[in-house]
Amino acid sequence: MPVAIESIACSKCFMDRGLQLDAEQLGDENAAACQNCGSSDGYKLNKEKLGSLAYRFFVWGSFWQTDYGGAPLIHFNEYQTTSIEPSPWLKSDVELFEKLLGIGFFHYGPRLWMMGEVEPLKALQKLALRPSIVERIVREYPTREIEPTLSFYRIRKDPKFPSEHHEYDSPPAAFDGTGRLDSNGSPALYASPDLQVCVHECRVTAEDELYVATLAPTRKLRLLDLSVILQENNSILSLRALIWPFICYFWPASIHTTSPEPSRLLRATLGSMALSTRRTLVSFG
Ligand SMILES: [Zn+2]
Repeated sequence: MPVAIESIACSKCFMDRGLQLDAEQLGDENAAACQNCGSSDGYKLNKEKLGSLAYRFFVWGSFWQTDYGGAPLIHFNEYQTTSIEPSPWLKSDVELFEKLLGIGFFHYGPRLWMMGEVEPLKALQKLALRPSIVERIVREYPTREIEPTLSFYRIRKDPKFPSEHHEYDSPPAAFDGTGRLDSNGSPALYASPDLQVCVHECRVTAEDELYVATLAPTRKLRLLDLSVILQENNSILSLRALIWPFICYFWPASIHTTSPEPSRLLRATLGSMALSTRRTLVSFG
Protein backbone atom coordinates (compact mmCIF):
# COMPACT_ATOMS: atom_id res chain seq x y z
CA MET A 1 0.00 0.00 0.00
CA PRO A 2 1.48 3.40 -0.95
CA VAL A 3 0.61 4.97 2.38
CA ALA A 4 2.65 2.29 4.21
CA ILE A 5 5.70 2.97 2.05
CA GLU A 6 5.46 6.72 2.39
CA SER A 7 4.50 7.00 6.03
CA ILE A 8 7.25 8.09 8.37
CA ALA A 9 5.33 8.47 11.63
CA CYS A 10 1.97 7.75 13.22
CA SER A 11 -0.40 9.10 15.87
CA LYS A 12 1.18 6.78 18.43
CA CYS A 13 4.56 8.43 17.99
CA PHE A 14 3.50 11.47 20.02
CA MET A 15 3.37 12.04 23.77
CA ASP A 16 1.06 15.04 23.70
CA ARG A 17 -2.62 14.11 23.56
CA GLY A 18 -3.51 17.04 21.32
CA LEU A 19 -0.94 15.96 18.78
CA GLN A 20 -2.21 12.39 19.00
CA LEU A 21 -5.78 13.50 18.30
CA ASP A 22 -4.77 15.80 15.43
CA ALA A 23 -2.62 13.01 13.97
CA GLU A 24 -5.57 10.65 14.10
CA GLN A 25 -7.60 13.12 12.09
CA LEU A 26 -4.93 13.77 9.51
CA GLY A 27 -3.44 10.26 9.29
CA ASP A 28 -4.46 7.15 7.40
CA GLU A 29 -5.58 3.88 8.88
CA ASN A 30 -3.01 1.23 8.02
CA ALA A 31 -2.01 -1.94 9.83
CA ALA A 32 1.64 -1.77 8.81
CA ALA A 33 4.20 -1.15 11.55
CA CYS A 34 5.17 2.49 11.98
CA GLN A 35 8.68 3.19 10.74
CA ASN A 36 9.34 5.36 13.74
CA CYS A 37 7.70 3.74 16.77
CA GLY A 38 6.78 0.29 15.42
CA SER A 39 3.10 0.61 16.39
CA SER A 40 0.68 -1.01 13.96
CA ASP A 41 -2.54 0.62 15.15
CA GLY A 42 -1.58 4.30 14.93
CA TYR A 43 -2.85 6.51 12.11
CA LYS A 44 -0.01 6.80 9.60
CA LEU A 45 1.48 10.09 8.45
CA ASN A 46 3.60 10.68 5.39
CA LYS A 47 5.99 13.63 5.26
CA GLU A 48 3.36 16.01 3.89
CA LYS A 49 0.81 15.10 6.52
CA LEU A 50 3.42 15.33 9.26
CA GLY A 51 4.17 18.86 8.03
CA SER A 52 0.45 19.67 8.09
CA LEU A 53 0.27 18.37 11.65
CA ALA A 54 3.16 20.61 12.71
CA TYR A 55 1.53 23.61 11.01
CA ARG A 56 -1.87 22.98 12.51
CA PHE A 57 -0.59 22.36 16.02
CA PHE A 58 2.20 24.93 16.36
CA VAL A 59 1.37 27.67 13.85
CA TRP A 60 -2.41 27.80 13.97
CA GLY A 61 -2.31 26.61 17.58
CA SER A 62 -0.31 29.67 18.61
CA PHE A 63 -2.49 32.15 16.70
CA TRP A 64 -2.85 35.36 18.66
CA GLN A 65 -5.94 37.41 17.82
CA THR A 66 -5.83 41.16 18.05
CA ASP A 67 -8.62 43.72 17.58
CA TYR A 68 -7.98 44.01 13.85
CA GLY A 69 -6.22 40.81 12.85
CA GLY A 70 -3.81 38.40 14.44
CA ALA A 71 -0.81 36.24 13.73
CA PRO A 72 0.81 33.01 14.87
CA LEU A 73 3.44 33.33 17.57
CA ILE A 74 5.37 30.24 16.49
CA HIS A 75 6.57 29.20 13.06
CA PHE A 76 9.00 26.65 11.63
CA ASN A 77 11.14 26.10 8.58
CA GLU A 78 14.09 24.03 7.40
CA TYR A 79 16.60 26.88 7.78
CA GLN A 80 16.43 27.47 11.50
CA THR A 81 17.20 25.36 14.52
CA THR A 82 14.61 25.29 17.27
CA SER A 83 14.76 28.32 19.53
CA ILE A 84 11.42 28.01 21.34
CA GLU A 85 11.29 26.39 24.75
CA PRO A 86 8.49 23.83 24.63
CA SER A 87 6.78 22.51 27.74
CA PRO A 88 8.52 19.43 29.17
CA TRP A 89 5.80 17.11 27.85
CA LEU A 90 6.20 18.50 24.34
CA LYS A 91 9.97 18.25 24.16
CA SER A 92 10.21 14.77 22.68
CA ASP A 93 7.44 15.55 20.17
CA VAL A 94 9.24 18.69 19.01
CA GLU A 95 12.43 16.63 18.61
CA LEU A 96 10.54 14.12 16.51
CA PHE A 97 9.36 16.84 14.11
CA GLU A 98 12.91 18.22 13.94
CA LYS A 99 14.33 14.78 13.13
CA LEU A 100 11.74 13.62 10.61
CA LEU A 101 11.09 16.92 8.81
CA GLY A 102 14.49 18.59 9.21
CA ILE A 103 12.89 21.74 10.64
CA GLY A 104 13.33 24.11 13.56
CA PHE A 105 10.64 25.98 15.50
CA PHE A 106 11.06 29.65 16.32
CA HIS A 107 9.14 32.68 17.61
CA TYR A 108 7.49 34.40 14.70
CA GLY A 109 7.85 38.13 14.31
CA PRO A 110 4.59 38.87 12.49
CA ARG A 111 4.31 41.52 9.84
CA LEU A 112 2.69 44.59 11.30
CA TRP A 113 -0.23 44.57 8.88
CA MET A 114 -1.30 41.24 10.35
CA MET A 115 -1.75 42.91 13.72
CA GLY A 116 -3.81 45.78 12.35
CA GLU A 117 -1.00 48.27 11.66
CA VAL A 118 -2.55 49.20 8.35
CA GLU A 119 -2.75 52.77 7.16
CA PRO A 120 -6.17 52.45 5.46
CA LEU A 121 -7.50 50.80 8.61
CA LYS A 122 -6.28 53.69 10.74
CA ALA A 123 -7.70 56.16 8.23
CA LEU A 124 -11.10 54.44 8.37
CA GLN A 125 -11.33 55.41 12.01
CA LYS A 126 -11.11 59.11 11.13
CA LEU A 127 -14.42 60.42 9.83
CA ALA A 128 -12.83 62.89 7.44
CA LEU A 129 -10.72 60.21 5.74
CA ARG A 130 -13.32 57.47 5.74
CA PRO A 131 -15.08 58.25 2.42
CA SER A 132 -11.87 58.01 0.39
CA ILE A 133 -10.94 54.67 1.96
CA VAL A 134 -14.40 53.26 1.39
CA GLU A 135 -14.15 54.43 -2.20
CA ARG A 136 -10.82 52.55 -2.53
CA ILE A 137 -12.33 49.39 -1.07
CA VAL A 138 -15.21 49.49 -3.54
CA ARG A 139 -12.85 50.23 -6.43
CA GLU A 140 -10.06 47.77 -5.66
CA TYR A 141 -11.82 44.67 -4.37
CA PRO A 142 -13.26 42.38 -7.04
CA THR A 143 -16.98 41.89 -7.39
CA ARG A 144 -18.84 38.62 -7.61
CA GLU A 145 -22.23 38.16 -9.16
CA ILE A 146 -24.84 36.04 -7.46
CA GLU A 147 -27.72 34.70 -9.49
CA PRO A 148 -31.28 34.27 -8.19
CA THR A 149 -30.67 30.54 -8.39
CA LEU A 150 -28.25 30.73 -5.47
CA SER A 151 -29.75 30.22 -2.04
CA PHE A 152 -28.31 30.94 1.33
CA TYR A 153 -29.36 30.57 4.94
CA ARG A 154 -30.20 32.65 7.96
CA ILE A 155 -30.63 30.97 11.36
CA ARG A 156 -32.66 32.32 14.26
CA LYS A 157 -32.70 31.02 17.79
CA ASP A 158 -36.09 31.24 19.53
CA PRO A 159 -37.74 33.74 17.20
CA LYS A 160 -40.94 35.18 18.70
CA PHE A 161 -43.02 34.43 15.61
CA PRO A 162 -41.21 31.65 13.73
CA SER A 163 -43.53 31.73 10.72
CA GLU A 164 -43.26 35.50 10.24
CA HIS A 165 -40.82 36.33 7.48
CA HIS A 166 -39.62 39.54 9.09
CA GLU A 167 -38.07 37.44 11.83
CA TYR A 168 -35.40 36.49 9.31
CA ASP A 169 -34.62 40.01 8.23
CA SER A 170 -31.58 41.84 9.59
CA PRO A 171 -31.87 42.46 13.37
CA PRO A 172 -34.02 45.38 14.59
CA ALA A 173 -32.46 48.84 14.84
CA ALA A 174 -31.96 48.36 18.59
CA PHE A 175 -29.25 45.83 17.77
CA ASP A 176 -27.41 48.00 15.27
CA GLY A 177 -23.71 48.07 16.02
CA THR A 178 -23.60 44.77 17.87
CA GLY A 179 -22.47 42.66 14.90
CA ARG A 180 -19.14 42.59 13.13
CA LEU A 181 -19.97 44.85 10.23
CA ASP A 182 -23.12 46.72 11.10
CA SER A 183 -23.29 50.08 12.82
CA ASN A 184 -25.85 52.60 14.03
CA GLY A 185 -28.27 53.23 11.22
CA SER A 186 -26.63 50.61 8.99
CA PRO A 187 -28.11 47.21 9.79
CA ALA A 188 -26.64 44.11 8.15
CA LEU A 189 -28.16 40.77 7.35
CA TYR A 190 -25.65 38.01 8.08
CA ALA A 191 -26.15 34.86 6.04
CA SER A 192 -24.22 32.03 4.42
CA PRO A 193 -24.71 29.56 1.59
CA ASP A 194 -23.22 26.99 3.97
CA LEU A 195 -25.71 25.99 6.66
CA GLN A 196 -22.95 24.62 8.87
CA VAL A 197 -21.30 28.04 8.89
CA CYS A 198 -24.58 29.55 10.14
CA VAL A 199 -24.76 26.98 12.93
CA HIS A 200 -21.18 27.71 13.90
CA GLU A 201 -21.53 31.48 13.71
CA CYS A 202 -24.70 31.48 15.82
CA ARG A 203 -23.01 29.37 18.52
CA VAL A 204 -26.13 27.29 19.04
CA THR A 205 -26.51 24.04 20.96
CA ALA A 206 -28.63 20.94 20.35
CA GLU A 207 -31.07 22.12 23.04
CA ASP A 208 -31.81 25.41 21.28
CA GLU A 209 -35.05 25.93 19.37
CA LEU A 210 -33.75 26.76 15.94
CA TYR A 211 -35.31 27.96 12.73
CA VAL A 212 -33.66 28.49 9.41
CA ALA A 213 -34.81 30.61 6.48
CA THR A 214 -33.70 29.75 2.99
CA LEU A 215 -33.14 32.98 1.11
CA ALA A 216 -32.48 33.85 -2.51
CA PRO A 217 -31.90 37.10 -4.39
CA THR A 218 -34.84 38.40 -6.41
CA ARG A 219 -32.40 39.51 -9.11
CA LYS A 220 -28.76 39.20 -10.02
CA LEU A 221 -26.60 40.81 -7.33
CA ARG A 222 -23.15 42.30 -7.55
CA LEU A 223 -21.27 41.72 -4.32
CA LEU A 224 -17.96 42.99 -3.18
CA ASP A 225 -15.68 40.06 -2.37
CA LEU A 226 -13.63 41.07 0.66
CA SER A 227 -12.22 37.57 1.06
CA VAL A 228 -9.70 38.16 -1.72
CA ILE A 229 -6.11 38.91 -0.73
CA LEU A 230 -5.11 41.86 -2.88
CA GLN A 231 -1.67 41.65 -4.44
CA GLU A 232 0.07 44.87 -3.54
CA ASN A 233 3.72 45.76 -3.13
CA ASN A 234 3.47 48.14 -0.22
CA SER A 235 1.93 46.09 2.53
CA ILE A 236 1.79 48.97 5.03
CA LEU A 237 -0.43 50.95 2.70
CA SER A 238 -2.31 47.99 1.39
CA LEU A 239 -5.97 47.29 1.80
CA ARG A 240 -5.48 43.58 1.95
CA ALA A 241 -5.28 43.37 5.72
CA LEU A 242 -8.28 45.53 6.27
CA ILE A 243 -10.77 42.77 6.80
CA TRP A 244 -8.61 39.77 6.25
CA PRO A 245 -10.16 37.41 8.81
CA PHE A 246 -13.58 37.79 7.19
CA ILE A 247 -15.21 36.32 4.17
CA CYS A 248 -17.92 38.75 3.39
CA TYR A 249 -19.82 40.55 0.72
CA PHE A 250 -22.06 43.61 0.50
CA TRP A 251 -24.95 44.30 -1.73
CA PRO A 252 -27.80 46.81 -2.06
CA ALA A 253 -30.94 44.87 -2.89
CA SER A 254 -34.00 43.06 -1.67
CA ILE A 255 -34.36 39.34 -1.17
CA HIS A 256 -37.12 36.83 -0.70
CA THR A 257 -37.38 33.43 0.87
CA THR A 258 -37.64 30.34 -1.28
CA SER A 259 -39.22 26.97 -0.66
CA PRO A 260 -38.52 25.38 2.69
CA GLU A 261 -35.91 22.75 3.38
CA PRO A 262 -37.33 20.92 6.39
CA SER A 263 -35.00 18.85 8.48
CA ARG A 264 -35.19 17.05 11.80
CA LEU A 265 -33.69 19.82 13.89
CA LEU A 266 -34.27 22.87 11.79
CA ARG A 267 -37.56 24.17 10.47
CA ALA A 268 -37.77 26.34 7.44
CA THR A 269 -39.94 29.25 6.43
CA LEU A 270 -41.25 30.06 3.00
CA GLY A 271 -42.97 32.84 1.19
CA SER A 272 -41.75 36.28 0.34
CA MET A 273 -39.89 38.76 2.47
CA ALA A 274 -39.38 42.31 1.35
CA LEU A 275 -36.24 43.92 2.63
CA SER A 276 -36.53 47.24 0.94
CA THR A 277 -35.12 49.11 3.93
CA ARG A 278 -32.28 46.67 4.49
CA ARG A 279 -29.39 47.33 2.26
CA THR A 280 -26.46 45.25 3.41
CA LEU A 281 -25.84 41.54 3.28
CA VAL A 282 -22.83 39.93 4.88
CA SER A 283 -22.23 36.40 3.72
CA PHE A 284 -19.73 34.08 5.41
CA GLY A 285 -18.34 30.88 4.09
ZN1 LIG B 1 4.53 5.75 15.21
